[in-house]
Formats: sequence, structure tokens, C-alpha cells
Amino acid sequence: MAPWLTGRTLLAVERVDAPPGPKTANLERAVGQRIEAVTRRGKFLLLPLRRPSVAPSGAVGGGDVPGDELVVHLGMTGVLSPRPPASHLRLRLRLDGPEPDVLYVQDARRFGRVLVVPSGDYRTLPTLAAMGPEPLSPGFTVAGFAAALVRSGQPVKAYLLSQRPVSGVGNIYADEALWRARVHPQTPARALSRPRVRALHAAIREVLAAAVELQGTTLYDYRTVNGEVGAYLEKLDAYGHDGDPCPRCGAPIVRIVVGQRGTHLCPRCQRRAAPRRGAPGPGRSAARGQR
Ligand SMILES: [Zn+2]
Repeated sequence: MAPWLTGRTLLAVERVDAPPGPKTANLERAVGQRIEAVTRRGKFLLLPLRRPSVAPSGAVGGGDVPGDELVVHLGMTGVLSPRPPASHLRLRLRLDGPEPDVLYVQDARRFGRVLVVPSGDYRTLPTLAAMGPEPLSPGFTVAGFAAALVRSGQPVKAYLLSQRPVSGVGNIYADEALWRARVHPQTPARALSRPRVRALHAAIREVLAAAVELQGTTLYDYRTVNGEVGAYLEKLDAYGHDGDPCPRCGAPIVRIVVGQRGTHLCPRCQRRAAPRRGAPGPGRSAARGQR
């Protein structure tokens, strides 16, 4: 997206089937602003905008004034494309410059968001505001991850999905990383032993790096901006494989629900750790984790 969009000015926002609301808040404010870059934080696309300044005298000088930020989250079924989609078109963003000069936003299930905030002001986006380190950056360390995990009594999978201990881990990659690290998804985050924390830290990095390499996982709708499917689907070990043999031990993968999300695991490889003798009981741990 970056080579296509960087430096272009948004000429118009056309709401094809996207009524005003929080998911498209302040979108019209982007009109007349120039896209300075295409960046990313976790699963949020961040496009800093710059508003051309108009000097009162008409004289050139002072440069551009800082503008807003266009924030995009694809949700479950969002697709950004330079080509008009066959169905579920929600928005057309018209751009200056050569063709392709329209950014089409398709979203079958409408979980996606395309909105404008003042630059760096994420008060209306609490997940982004509280987001943990980037998983593939040097800032994601075993020590930092361990320190984050002990702050929560939530099931480790639910805590990963919150994006707080580390960013970018969604439902599919959480299942894959937990399978790889042999961690039961319902283990309270703070109950993970240091070897399991280390294994999970490594597994998250391995799974995400490999998935990015293959342009992600296309279950249904996801396409890259070039219209290609993500090929990581073929590499999934646990997610979506309920009933299939575990690639490691051969036991059938099962599907359970954790935090209202479908969750896949090997009941033989990913056992729930028995409470350690002398450790605080699960009740008290869970209560502390809520704060
Ligand atoms: Zn197994």
C-alpha cells in the first residue's frame, strides 16, 4: 500500500454503504489532507495525514501544519483494494494522482473501522492506546512478556487477544503459538512457568514471522492490496483442524471456546498445568487479575 498511497491527497470520501457512526468517525476530515506514510501498529493501519497550510497573506512559507491520522482496522472481513469489489462495498476514497486513484473498502461483516483521529490521539481506540510491543521488534523481550503475563489472571489466550502483552496476535495466531509452545489456552496468564513463557514468546515470533512471509491467512475474505490470498492457511497446525491428528503427537485436535472465541488445541500436548503446591489458589489469582 505504501508505494501506492504515500504522497496522495484524499479528494473525496464516498459512503456507499457505511452510515456515519463510531466505526467511520470523522472520516470526512481526511478530505484535502495528504497521506504522509502507511504505517502499522499491531493490526491497525495508521496513515498519518498532513493538511496543507494556507498562509493568510497567500505567501508561501511555514510549510505544512500537522494534520490527523487515518486509522484502519480490517476487522474480520475488511479488504482494501484499488479495484472495485463484486459485493459489500462500503466506502470509496478518491485520491489525486494517476490511476488507480480510488481506494475501495469492502467489508462483508462490518467489523472493520476506517476513521480519523487527531495525530496520535487514541482515546477512542482503547485497544490501540494500551497496546503492547510489536512482536517482531527488539522491544518484545522474554522479560517484558513475563512481566506483562503476571499482571493477568485471565486465560492466557484471552489475554493475548487483548493485545496488551504483545500486539498483533489474533485468534488464528494465538491458537498456533499456544499449540507450538504446548500451552493450554485456558491457563491463567500469570500461572505460566518461565520455560513456558520463553516457549510462547519464541512461538509468537516464529508464527507471525512465517505468516507475514506468506502474506497472512485467507480463510474467506482476506486479500492483500494486490488481490492475492494469504498462503499461511496451508501451514496451520491447530487452528481449524478440529478432528484432525495433531501434527506432533497424533491425538485429535479439539475445539473449545475461550473468551467467546473458537479455540483449537491438542489435549495431549497442551495440558493444563496442575496448580503448584503452595501457589495461590486460582480464585484469588483470577480476582487480582480483574483489577
Ligand atoms: Zn499433540
